[in-house]
Amino acid sequence: MDRPGNTLSITHARGRVDVRAAWTRAEVFATIELLLSGWESVLPPNHDARIVIKPNLNNDLVALTGNCADLRVIAALIEALHRRGYSDITVADGSNVGIERRNISSFKRLRIDKLAARYGARTVDLNRDEGRRIVLHAGAEPLVAKTVLDADFLISVPKIKTHAEAGLSCAMKNWVGICVGQDKRHMHHDLGRNIFALSEVVQPDLILVDGLVAMEGNGPGDGEPVRLGRLLMADDPFLNDVVAARLVGIAPRTVPYLQHALDAGVVDQALLSQVEREVAVVVAIQPAPPRSRLAELSESRHLTWLKTAVQPLVALPAVSELAYKARIIQDVYSLEDDTLRLVARAADTCGDCRKCEDVCPTGLKLEDIGVKLELPDCVQCLYCWWVCPKQALTLTGEPAAMQRQIDRYKGAIEGL
Ligand code: SF4
Ligand code: SF4
Repeated sequence: MDRPGNTLSITHARGRVDVRAAWTRAEVFATIELLLSGWESVLPPNHDARIVIKPNLNNDLVALTGNCADLRVIAALIEALHRRGYSDITVADGSNVGIERRNISSFKRLRIDKLAARYGARTVDLNRDEGRRIVLHAGAEPLVAKTVLDADFLISVPKIKTHAEAGLSCAMKNWVGICVGQDKRHMHHDLGRNIFALSEVVQPDLILVDGLVAMEGNGPGDGEPVRLGRLLMADDPFLNDVVAARLVGIAPRTVPYLQHALDAGVVDQALLSQVEREVAVVVAIQPAPPRSRLAELSESRHLTWLKTAVQPLVALPAVSELAYKARIIQDVYSLEDDTLRLVARAADTCGDCRKCEDVCPTGLKLEDIGVKLELPDCVQCLYCWWVCPKQALTLTGEPAAMQRQIDRYKGAIEGL
């Protein structure tokens, strides 16, 4: 594994992207501090500035699947900002429309609420925020969250993952989450064009890409986790996403929103060639498979009425399971939150590999994992349990909604 010292910087008329290797919690904290030290000049001069961190909390899938922003990254960023004297920090996102419609709290399921409390930040669910309507040249007119529009300094924290509809999800796709609630649907009527258009109108001040675990294949909700071990910091979403695509071997021209940016002259072939020359592919991931015809039809503007009419039917567990198997949907939701808690570590089965230490966002040492169980020591994220290959960590409580992701992802996450 390459270490945090490995740095790559790509500079271009549009801006700059810095890339560094990191994996363990200690590396993530040290690397984010190092990255941020290279961007001091863009940080707000006023320490009372309202800083909004917008992670990708697309779904209720644990971050180690590659779907959502990793708690280690969010914690390290908050801490690095606190160290620089900033105190007004909000973690804000609006999860996907399926989560919103069912009134599921991804902040609770992903333990973002506990992490924010532990590190001294507020949380705002942008799906419940007030919004202001923004007219995009690509046709969508979504309500965009007031918390985002009124922020003094916006930090986008995207993932790097495949996206069945958008091709790739990184900084530009992450921005769909600033649209309030079901208004995200407006974006999906011509997703590539609308992502491009939204990124032209509202831009983050800084981007910190969580490329620790990427997702390949049927992303964003049903792909496979891939250890990428990279953190990126940038000031331009277009440049950032061209570099992110290169790191995982995805050709920018196969990503519809980047192709629209190319057509519009926002990025050009010279940039693609420069990135190809200067950036090596770290892990070539499998692209998203072609969408089924039914999945494509389900996003048609002309069939919105039908989709609304059949929603109660699709909400039935047996029907959504069928729709999942037919590849019309990626996500099957349960309304019941898990009540799982880490309660112990069995020293006799523990293989002393310390993978649990590597992923613990609060930095607990092996001796304290399964012993210190309450805030501020433990946020009960269960990352340690997800990676443990020896099943040495004991949980209590009901898995409920988490059972499905345990069945689907536990083995893959142990292998990261
Ligand atoms: S990951 Fe599991 S086996 Fe490895 S040190 Fe931690 S508890 Fe022990
Ligand atoms: S000990 Fe385990 S459950 Fe607790 S914060 Fe660390 S990784 Fe999460």
